[in-house]
Amino acid sequence: MDALPIWLTVEDCDVLIVGGGAVAAAKIRLAVTAGAVVTVVAPVLGSQARDASTSARIRHLARKFSADDVQGKVLVFGATGIESVDAHVAAAAKATGIPVNVPDAPGMSNFIMPAIVDRGPVVVGISTGGAAPALARQIRGQIESVLPPRLGDLARLAGGFRQAVKAKIPRGLARLRFWDGLFAGPVAQAALAGDDQAARRQFLRSLNAAGAQAAPTGIVHVVGAGPGDPELLTLKALRLIQAADVVVYDRLVAPEILDYARRDAERIDVGKAPGKHTVPQDQINQILMDRAKSGKRVVRLKGGDPFVFGRGGEEIAFLDEHGVESQVVPGVTAALACAAAAGIPLTYRECAQAVTFLTGHGAAGAAADHDWAALAKSGHTVAVYMGVACAGQIAAKLIDHGMRPEMPVAIIENGTRDRQRVFAGRLDALADLILSHQIESPALIIIGEVARPALAKHAAPDVSCAVAG
Ligand code: SAH
Repeated sequence: MDALPIWLTVEDCDVLIVGGGAVAAAKIRLAVTAGAVVTVVAPVLGSQARDASTSARIRHLARKFSADDVQGKVLVFGATGIESVDAHVAAAAKATGIPVNVPDAPGMSNFIMPAIVDRGPVVVGISTGGAAPALARQIRGQIESVLPPRLGDLARLAGGFRQAVKAKIPRGLARLRFWDGLFAGPVAQAALAGDDQAARRQFLRSLNAAGAQAAPTGIVHVVGAGPGDPELLTLKALRLIQAADVVVYDRLVAPEILDYARRDAERIDVGKAPGKHTVPQDQINQILMDRAKSGKRVVRLKGGDPFVFGRGGEEIAFLDEHGVESQVVPGVTAALACAAAAGIPLTYRECAQAVTFLTGHGAAGAAADHDWAALAKSGHTVAVYMGVACAGQIAAKLIDHGMRPEMPVAIIENGTRDRQRVFAGRLDALADLILSHQIESPALIIIGEVARPALAKHAAPDVSCAVAG
């Protein structure tokens, strides 16, 4: 470490900023936000500095810098961008023992400003000691993406209860545990979701329970894990997986995603291979309920989106019925992910004004219930889930109801995963296409004009035909 990381209180203190350009403007804004009284010395102010200087806490001296300007200040910035002037400012400050910063010139500065992630009152500062400011900015971007936007609300809430917690739990270690649990539990989740009232309610409940040694309350988050690529997880899903005590997951959830769970989290595989439900649904419901009732934070992780052919609705209904709190976090569903992976827009201005997500499950029987005539209409894209086994029947139904036999189709197997394969052909050859390439689940079928560009890229020469267009 080359420098001492400190947070300096400048509330009502005098800060000098020399310069009137964009760099000076950024410093003016920061100093005012931190409560400083700011003197700006610059012959003229640029537009950004003018905009930043509207507060009554700012005094602009429209002239050149003079060494006396540093007198009585707690901090000085030389931000003119003119090396000789900034050097003069730095020398004057140092001669008087006042900390000085010249942006992007660590050699002239005796303090540097970190790149910051601001979730006031939570602030993260990142410094590379002036060696690589661009790297610091990149790290800032990474931290920005993992810190929930409402982290500041959570910190404020905790601040408001600090004394009460201290009074109720006098022992230090017990208090530490309480806070740990609180920041990883339902209070934090409610605060981060913007539900201040629920967060306060939960806080009081947790605090009372802490006093009475009562069991903490559990919750089930039904979370969409997306199609496989871990980068397609939502930030919320990632956060909940990392905080979970128990992860109950399906066959479609990629192993890399499970790696985000804590090492000591309980992992329960309830994987359903097509045709054989290894753990029946009522048993899954029971597992979720039992774990939550014992105070655990349960993540029920499902491939894609929990509410698209995911039985999320049934699980939520069961939990509601049994008084277990639950929340749903959406995920990127297979149709969206596979369309993107294959470069197929699901809607397109001229040729597809609607899209239907269809299950092929039980196509021989139940799928007969689909409104085939509506699905076969032009201007419509059909995305078929669980359609590998019954693709032939689906194609036949669509053709019977008026869809052109040469309608383009695309099949995306293992969309967004390592073993992704994409094939394209025509509707009347869909079953052959699946057979000849030994396509296996999970695979998504897209039927419609929108799949035409895929023909050029992914046509399988043995089964596809040139389609006019
Ligand atoms: N809830 C899930 C769908 C579950 S049904 C979602 O929203 O995506 C299972 C079907 O989803 C599979 O049979 C397949 O048709 C489709 N599917 C899921 N993940 C897929 C992937 N990575 N690639 C292709 N199809 C996928």
